[in-house]
Amino acid sequence: MKRLYLFDEEDKILLMPACEKKEISLKWQIPRSSCVPMDNIELHEFVPDELVGRLPDGKTKELGIRNEELSFNLQSFPLRETSRLLSAEDYQRAGKAWELLYWSEQTRYCGRCGSSMAWHTVISRRCTGCGQEIWPQLNTAIIVLVHRGDEALLVKAKTFRRNFFGLVAGFVETGESLEECVAREVREETSLVITNIRYFGSQPWPYPLGLMIGFHADYFSGEVTFADGELKDGRFFRKDNIPTYDDGTLAIPGPESMARRLIDDWLKTTY
Ligand SMILES: [Zn+2]
Repeated sequence: MKRLYLFDEEDKILLMPACEKKEISLKWQIPRSSCVPMDNIELHEFVPDELVGRLPDGKTKELGIRNEELSFNLQSFPLRETSRLLSAEDYQRAGKAWELLYWSEQTRYCGRCGSSMAWHTVISRRCTGCGQEIWPQLNTAIIVLVHRGDEALLVKAKTFRRNFFGLVAGFVETGESLEECVAREVREETSLVITNIRYFGSQPWPYPLGLMIGFHADYFSGEVTFADGELKDGRFFRKDNIPTYDDGTLAIPGPESMARRLIDDWLKTTY
C-alpha cells in the first residue's frame, strides 16, 4: 500500500471518494487497471512508500479507478479544505508532499550557473552542472494574540478571504529575531506597543512553503490605528462579545489555523 499525493493543474489534491470504507482516504493501492495515467506522471518518493506528483494538464476530469473491485472518479479539493476531510496527521503529510512538489517546480534551474537541477536526496536537489545542493527555504511568519486585561485584539486584514476577525500576522524579515518581528508587525499594523511576548506553538503552513509561529503578548501603550494600510478593522474584544456571522457562529478563523488555536487558548484560559 502506497500513499499517493496527486495534484492537478489548479493545485488541488485528488482524493479517493467515499467507497467501501465510507471515508475519504489518502491510502490507495494503485491498481493496474486504473485509468489514472500513471505512466505520464513523474512521481517523487519523499519518504518510503509516499509519492507525490502532478497530473498532466486537462487530465483531471475523467480520472478514476476502474477494476474488478472498485469503480469511481477521483475528487479534487483545495489542500486547505482537506483539513476538514483528513486526519490531522494525513493533512500535515499532504502539506509536506505539496511543499516538495511546489518547491521542485520552482527550482528547475540552478540559481548560480543556470544548469538543470535534479533530486539528490528525498528533500534536496543538486545542480547537474556545478553541483550546488539546495534544500527548501521556508517563509517564516509570526502570528500574535495581544491581551489587554481580559480582552484580546482581533483584526480584519484586507487580504482575509472571509469576513472574519483574525490576529496580527506577518513575515519575518532577514536579520530579525522572532520577538522583534512580533513587536514590529503589531506596531506597523496597529500602532500599538506590546510587551511580554511569549511563545505559544508552531505549525507547518504549506501555502506554499511556510512555517507559522504563534505568540501571546500583552498590550503596553497606544491607540489602535491602521498605519500601514494592511488592516481594515481591529479592536479589543471581551470573551463574551466575540464577533459572529449572521447565523450566530463565531466570525473567527477555522480550526486548522494557528490563529484559531491561539484564540481558543485565550477563551479557555484565565490570563
Ligand atoms: Zn549550478
